[in-house]
Amino acid sequence: MSTRTVLTGARHPGDIAFSEGMIVEVGAIIAGPSDVVIDCSDTIITAGFVNTHHHLYQCITRGRAVGCDLFGWLTELYPIWGRLDVADVHAAALVGLGELAATGCTTASDHHYLVPRGDDSVFDAIVEAARTVGIRLHLSRGSMDLSVKDGGLPPDHVVESLDAIMASTERLIAQYHDGEMISVVVAPCSPFSVSRELMRESAELARRHGLRLHTHLAETIEEEHHCQERFGRRPVDLLDEWGWIAPDVWVAHGIHLDDAEVARLGGEECGVAHCPSSNARLGAGMCRVTDLVGAGAPVGLGVDGAASNEVGGLFAELRQSLYTARQRARDASAFMPNDALARATVGGAACLGRDDIGAISVGMRADLAVWPAADLGDIADPVTALVLGPDRKVRDLFVGGERVIEAGQHRSFDLAAAKAQLAQRASRLWA
Ligand SMILES: [Zn+2]
Repeated sequence: MSTRTVLTGARHPGDIAFSEGMIVEVGAIIAGPSDVVIDCSDTIITAGFVNTHHHLYQCITRGRAVGCDLFGWLTELYPIWGRLDVADVHAAALVGLGELAATGCTTASDHHYLVPRGDDSVFDAIVEAARTVGIRLHLSRGSMDLSVKDGGLPPDHVVESLDAIMASTERLIAQYHDGEMISVVVAPCSPFSVSRELMRESAELARRHGLRLHTHLAETIEEEHHCQERFGRRPVDLLDEWGWIAPDVWVAHGIHLDDAEVARLGGEECGVAHCPSSNARLGAGMCRVTDLVGAGAPVGLGVDGAASNEVGGLFAELRQSLYTARQRARDASAFMPNDALARATVGGAACLGRDDIGAISVGMRADLAVWPAADLGDIADPVTALVLGPDRKVRDLFVGGERVIEAGQHRSFDLAAAKAQLAQRASRLWA
């Protein structure tokens, strides 16, 4: 019989037992002599968080273009991003994923669309970083095929040809996609940085392999104006025309949507990655989370890149999502702490098309975040304590039953050393 691990004494949701990577019992558990018992007194346990939108490479360019909106920010940062090499991307991914794990994430989606000089080994570097950290990765193979010379924003040498993008995506699927620890997603950057052929062929390729699709959508009002000018369509209409408003798609942001568009996304169960801190930092607007959820759309939370959310962890997004929803609705009952937790867990899992993660119940994968809570005893409800209480990092993190973080420390690598190395690499970019 295989060994069973029992987490005992947590303030919420009770004891949890797992074996061979899966949750096998929840509630009041009497441990047997062969069980491995881990004392979780003074903690709150949640399902591991799911980060639905990130650009890990941006960890190397934090704190820049601080007073700019999205287009100004992109214009200032693209020349710097154009100087990144594969080692930079790996160093940034290691720190970014390490921070995500420390803030409760057991599954992360990285939308990487920057391929300097056509070297697609940047994607291998991101996979390697995820394996080092030990968390699940949804590798959103991003792409751009319009550059400055085509009227776009990125420099010529960071965009690729359609054929190169398709061939590279096929390679990554064949090499890495297992649907468990590594899942490949087909993810052109945004309607304003790619050709319509790339959007159409990406959808075809993803559906041929049964994979999911991801892109940015309706992040700013400027994007809406740009799409109207260039295509004579609103962003949602464009995506719809390209076959992208569908249940196998989730989009980042989804802010500037009218009532009919909210209903359309909900009706098609097209997911939305809500990134409240990044949206606030760039002054982009506020996502209609409660409307989207009410309409039937899966909604998860996202950090977005650390160049527009310098915190780089998911924990703060729970509280920010609650604040944003209530401010937008001017209604204190519009969004409860449990809603925030649901977005960070089961909502994120739904965006990524996963029904095996995002909840603590028998038969789910043992992806668990153990939060220190000795200082939260005065707050009656554990979820309220976690979401509205002071920031914290996990005490322990389990991914498929593997203990990735123990007593606040990554077991497989030194995060502080990785941060020091990243800072050194970053300083050279600005020299
Ligand atoms: Zn983004």
